[in-house]
Amino acid sequence: MAKKEEEKSRTLRNFRSLSVEEDRRHSFFMRDREESIDLPCSHFPDYPKDSHPEPVVKSGWLDKTPPKGGKRFQRRWVQLDHKYLRYFQNSKEVYSKRMISLQCVSAVQPAGDQRFELITLNRTFLFKTESNQMRNEWIKSLEEVLSSRPQSQHKARSEWIKSLEEVLRRRQQNGGGGVFFKSCLAKTEGLLEMTSPRTKVYTVINNNRIYLFKNRQEYMNGLGITDIDLSKASLKESSKSFSVITPYRTFSFVVESEAERQRWCACLAECVRSSAPVSRVCEKLWSKEFNRVCADCGADSPEWASVNLCVLLCERCADAHRCLGPSVSKVFSLKGNDQLWTEDLIKLFLQLGNGKVNSFWAENIPSSEILNVESSSSERLAYATAKYLKGTFRKQHHLSGQQEALNNALCAAVKGSNIVETFRLLFSGADINSSTGIPEFPTPLALAMHSGQTNQVELLKHNQKSDTVKSEVNTAPSLSGYLFKVASANRPITEQKPRSEFTQRWCSLNAGMFTYYKTEQMTHRCGSMKTSEIICLSLNSPGNHGFEHTLEIYTDAGRVYLFGADDIVTIKEWFRAISMAMLPTALSSVCGLCDRLGRLLCTEGSLGTGWFCLSGSMLQVLLEDSVQDINLLRLHTLTIGDGAGDVVLGWRGGYVHLSFDQRPHFPGWISSLRRGAGSGNEMLSQQQLTKSGIPITVQRCIEYVTRHGLMSAGIYRKSGTTSRVSALLDSFQQDARNVCFSDKFGVDDVASTLKRFLREVKGGVFNGEDNSRNWLKVADVSHHRAKLSMYQNLLSELPEVNRETLKVLLNHLYCVHHLSEFNQMTMGNLGIVFGPTLFQTDGSDPRTYTVVEEMIQNYCAIFNVPEEELQKELDATSLILNKINDQTSSKFAPSLSICAVYIEKKEEGAELLVQVGSNVTAKQLVLQVLEMRGIEPFAEEMWTCYEVQEKEEMERELHFEEKVLPFYFSLGPDCHLLVKKSQYSNDIKNYLSGKNEVYKVGTLRVCEVKGDKNRNFISHQCELTKGTLKLYKDKESSLCEKEWSVQEGTLYYGYRSKLSPPTPWGLILVCGQQQWYFCCDNEDEFIEWMATFLSLQCGENR
Ligand SMILES: [Zn+2]
Repeated sequence: MAKKEEEKSRTLRNFRSLSVEEDRRHSFFMRDREESIDLPCSHFPDYPKDSHPEPVVKSGWLDKTPPKGGKRFQRRWVQLDHKYLRYFQNSKEVYSKRMISLQCVSAVQPAGDQRFELITLNRTFLFKTESNQMRNEWIKSLEEVLSSRPQSQHKARSEWIKSLEEVLRRRQQNGGGGVFFKSCLAKTEGLLEMTSPRTKVYTVINNNRIYLFKNRQEYMNGLGITDIDLSKASLKESSKSFSVITPYRTFSFVVESEAERQRWCACLAECVRSSAPVSRVCEKLWSKEFNRVCADCGADSPEWASVNLCVLLCERCADAHRCLGPSVSKVFSLKGNDQLWTEDLIKLFLQLGNGKVNSFWAENIPSSEILNVESSSSERLAYATAKYLKGTFRKQHHLSGQQEALNNALCAAVKGSNIVETFRLLFSGADINSSTGIPEFPTPLALAMHSGQTNQVELLKHNQKSDTVKSEVNTAPSLSGYLFKVASANRPITEQKPRSEFTQRWCSLNAGMFTYYKTEQMTHRCGSMKTSEIICLSLNSPGNHGFEHTLEIYTDAGRVYLFGADDIVTIKEWFRAISMAMLPTALSSVCGLCDRLGRLLCTEGSLGTGWFCLSGSMLQVLLEDSVQDINLLRLHTLTIGDGAGDVVLGWRGGYVHLSFDQRPHFPGWISSLRRGAGSGNEMLSQQQLTKSGIPITVQRCIEYVTRHGLMSAGIYRKSGTTSRVSALLDSFQQDARNVCFSDKFGVDDVASTLKRFLREVKGGVFNGEDNSRNWLKVADVSHHRAKLSMYQNLLSELPEVNRETLKVLLNHLYCVHHLSEFNQMTMGNLGIVFGPTLFQTDGSDPRTYTVVEEMIQNYCAIFNVPEEELQKELDATSLILNKINDQTSSKFAPSLSICAVYIEKKEEGAELLVQVGSNVTAKQLVLQVLEMRGIEPFAEEMWTCYEVQEKEEMERELHFEEKVLPFYFSLGPDCHLLVKKSQYSNDIKNYLSGKNEVYKVGTLRVCEVKGDKNRNFISHQCELTKGTLKLYKDKESSLCEKEWSVQEGTLYYGYRSKLSPPTPWGLILVCGQQQWYFCCDNEDEFIEWMATFLSLQCGENR
């Protein structure tokens, strides 16, 4: 009876609870038609439980209360562990439809036949089993777990407190809390929109798992949907969304802003990282405190490393490093690379590591540039580029810029244990393959091995360029992912493409094919090309199109493809992968660095094409099998034909002639080359530069003032005519290489042009306002020696171009001041003129004057120039000056003047000012110059004076009896005198010595030079005899077409690239305004023709 009563009351209660449950659902969950969210797996695990860390106490099929309105119970796979009761669509699913925190369960009890109920704070769940026995078993298990809660709670609490402290220490954030994580603050939480199925979920990241809730209320009540284990997950980010990819399915979330995405991803990345087991290598490397944070952004526990730069990095910074390419940074994981992480490499990282390495790389970093864990991918890439590729923040080595000294210091350093010194030398420009001078150990690496310096060996090994290239190439490039594409075209894309014109495409690069599809699942492709058909790949500058970052692909057949993405890392990844697939091995080390690369038609080399990689101003050219590095800023010719013309690049190493190509990639190359060659209002280092690395504008103006203005009263103080100064500056900015100082410009115009250039150049010589302020502070220092060393320090921190420019300029100002008796420009006056100019200010700060004045005054000490050297130069100038002062000098008929002469090659500082009387011959000049420079020639050496016509690319040796002065004043603006060892005089002597009668007959290819346009070289029979040069149509012809007297003309030699002569052996005959170009077949012919001509011209004197 009692038993019956009990039964009855229980049924009643059960019924009541059931209806209460229904009621509650009515009142609270009216809109809640779906019971929960279904998250089916795309792959099933071999063992369903392996996704959950807690041991499962009990599991089985149960029927669950139908959702609102439904009559039928739903069959669910239910699983119980010590923390949650979960139910799943089926037994294989990894992601539950519901997970109920046992913390919020207040009771479990039978609810009639085969049924039991689980009562939580605001909701009761009713389950139906197949039998009462089964029901009792479930109740028993649940009660057991519930009764063991305090202990587990206690355990969890201590764990949570730990993580809580961690969280509080790192960032202040309002924790959610709720029953679900009773005593813990979630690391990050908030409402996110999930994309498939499309629904909002309240998302909480905690303890390396993501928990999903239908809303915040359910979160507070301890009712979850499912949780995702991050230890097996990876994270993929794109602009406004991110995906968590697990082995079983991908969860994608949309966020409202970039900042939001970064907040979530930073937290996720940290979880993903910290949940993986710590490797042996990590443990060892992290034993040093400075290795425990990323060298770039400061994120905890960096698990990546650049083995050549010796820094430990977080994953996101490692991505940025990968974009720089392996020739700059070789990035490897600390995990699972046991062969790489030898004990020696680990030792190296313990000795160098982030601490010491950063004190070099990041010595001069402005606080505004410092990264933090929240920095975006593009910020990281910009930072890594500045820090490691450009070396912007690095601490200058005191030998910086002196190649030989650096190399010698490297060879010395590798023998000892000072690894930091070796590191600094390597990254300050020392050549890793410099010769040690020891035949048994020719390279620094061999020397280090011999000296038993394992750390040195390790550092050198990882910085040898060649082996990276190989290892990179072996891993054949393949990549896939979504990009956005516009319809391809057959002409250059010049207009801006809005975002709406781009469509998403699944792209894949594999086995030499680049293919794109509508979606990842599609098998039918939208288009494809072989990588061997790609002739050009170009990275556009950001913001050109609707997508921030875009790249262009040009094919052999003349089609242009434009692909875009929102983040730079994605685009760079594709750029690198495609370029690796298309470039020859010799160039593949640069492909991460350049922004344009491809094949171009060119006349050099036997293949008719060359490979070109352009990165800013650095161009790498591969012709056949030799790679040339060309700094476009230091080109001496860049000729770009109008419209359909060819392009000629001339630099120290020779010439490259690019043939015009009608396909759409060509115009892009032209403008990129132009841009790379420098022009316009750019930084000093981006200007067109001389071979010695200072802006051409500065050099040309200084040269001109030295020649014509040193004694002009008020030079630099007097202003030039504004319109002429503007015109001159304009032409310098367009193309400094081809500026001509015509007669209309006076010295004051040129002097003002120099001042205006320095005043307006971006950043100024002191490299920006911040640095300028540091220079000005020195003016306040009173202690002389402290002052000098401050100047020296500041100087050493300047970029090389700025430093060299300052040196040349101050040398010049020193000379001006030295002649102040005549030009009235004392140091004080020069300070007043150049202070505001160099600091780019209005002149209200008198410290600007002081700095310039002090730098002139202490020129030798600051720039480390030996006093004697400067004194010698000045003595010569003074001497000349005094003599000039005695006489009235006339510009046009001087009996004595100063000539600027260069020795061996034309370079700043090598210029000698020589006093030359009207009767001085070339021979006397040479002797005078050699004496001034203390050069004693060897017996067989023959030094002569050359006239060099830079623009015409030709030169000649002056006859030793030729009078210098009249000739000097006839020189054009692009000409100079050069004293050097004679190139051909011995050959000429040898040839002539065996001859009784001097004459020469033979075939030459001849071209009459009219500007640079005429390039018709036509073979003619030529006859040089008895004082005349005669030209016949051919051997048989007896009719003389042209005749010159050798006395009338002047013979030069050279190779005029603009005419593309068929051979390098060119003789140029100048007769008045006319020029004839004779091309010889080989060097012997060339010498014979020249010898004959000169011998006929000079008779016995030769
Ligand atoms: Zn980092």
